[in-house]
Amino acid sequence: MKTFQDFKLSNPLRNAIDDLGFEHPTPIQSESFSVVLSGKDMVGIAQTGTGKTLGYMLPILQDLKFSKEPNLRVLVLVPTRELVLQVVDEVEKFSKYLSLRTLGVYGGTNINTQKRAIAEGVDIVVATPGRLYDLTLSRSIQLKTVRKLVIDEVDVMLDLGFRFQLTNIFDLLSDRRQNIMFSATMTDDVETLINDFFIKPTKVSVALSGTPLDNISQQCYSVPNFYTKVNLLVNLLKDKEVYSKVLVFVSNKRSADRLFEELEEPYGEESCVIHSNKTQNYRIRSISQFDEGKNRILVATDVMARGLDLDKITHVVNFDTPGFPENYMHRIGRTGRAEQEGRSLLFYTEKEEEGKLKIEALMDYRIPKIEMSSEIEIAKRLTPAEQPPVVEINNPHKASLVEERGASFHEKSLKNQKENQGGSYRRKIEKKYKKPKTRGDKNYNKRNKK
Ligand code: AMP
Repeated sequence: MKTFQDFKLSNPLRNAIDDLGFEHPTPIQSESFSVVLSGKDMVGIAQTGTGKTLGYMLPILQDLKFSKEPNLRVLVLVPTRELVLQVVDEVEKFSKYLSLRTLGVYGGTNINTQKRAIAEGVDIVVATPGRLYDLTLSRSIQLKTVRKLVIDEVDVMLDLGFRFQLTNIFDLLSDRRQNIMFSATMTDDVETLINDFFIKPTKVSVALSGTPLDNISQQCYSVPNFYTKVNLLVNLLKDKEVYSKVLVFVSNKRSADRLFEELEEPYGEESCVIHSNKTQNYRIRSISQFDEGKNRILVATDVMARGLDLDKITHVVNFDTPGFPENYMHRIGRTGRAEQEGRSLLFYTEKEEEGKLKIEALMDYRIPKIEMSSEIEIAKRLTPAEQPPVVEINNPHKASLVEERGASFHEKSLKNQKENQGGSYRRKIEKKYKKPKTRGDKNYNKRNKK
């Protein structure tokens, strides 16, 4: 095993690593150090949690001489704002004893503040491609001086549709640059990008996509439907000591909101949610409340949680089974980080069994199955997606079709009626008293002209 001494680090870097209490380099750090230092292009296949940020930053910082020139020399591109904040935080820790200016640049915040900060001079910029591209368009940032380009989580970046911004940014960079790229999975898109823009990159791979980390124990449950999954989760979460920091993955925003709503009653005080429809401030607040332990349950979608560096997660719950097995690898990589033990649970319905088999094929590992306790109530209620499809929308014999749908449909439609009562109540009051319910109802006259 390599030690940090083998890297012959400069004193400021060695001291910063000592302060962080890191004793040994992780495998990706050992592997990347000499490659990055050599100046060759590099492609690293590594998941978050393997220590890849220090893997590229350490050799870059070792090589980065103090400069009075206010020129940008290192550009790190990451897919999400959350990741910008996290990488800036890490770089600042590593470069604690170096006089370097690091700046995080991301959308959704005031661009002028960022322009002013850039004008004051920066050495390292960590950015999302969208905002960075906007800054180049307004000529607020000069990219020609960049010598090291790092693109982190390229797979996510391409998933989010950033190829256009990336290629435009590449066009503005000098050819005299080193490209360093990290991806957790190799996809066709990633391969194409490498072939188009990289020069004979050295491949460094520590955990092949599909190799689960050894310190994660995995289990799965066969569960008939969404609301039974809710019952199972609610039951498991009762054990607050064991389930003390739980990240629950769902594949889309709708499921995230639906699940979050269901958790409201039993665990409202202890849970939070993140997905891309939530505002940035809301997401940052949710993440920090979860990370600091104020909330022990975080419901998240895949893309939102991919770049997060969350400490000491006891459990990752795959509330649904991802269709792409790589996503499962990303999800479970959130637990068992660095040298901690982690647990992953997978809930799958009959429909999702194929997804589970794909995951097992990728890992070459059969996930041990646990029988659901008989205490768990099997829910009759179904989500709209689980309900049988409506055959004909304008069927004059609709009533008989509804009959066929069973009890759960009636429950659902009754519930919907209930939810709409606010409006009809107001209409009733208006009718009864012939005036608006509130004085501020400006549209009352408009509505009641006739
Ligand atoms: P990353 O994969 O870069 O997101 O890093 C995952 C976590 O591992 C971060 O919290 C790092 O601070 C931590 N870490 C990085 N390198 C080491 C190391 N050599 N020893 C222990 N922890 C580390």
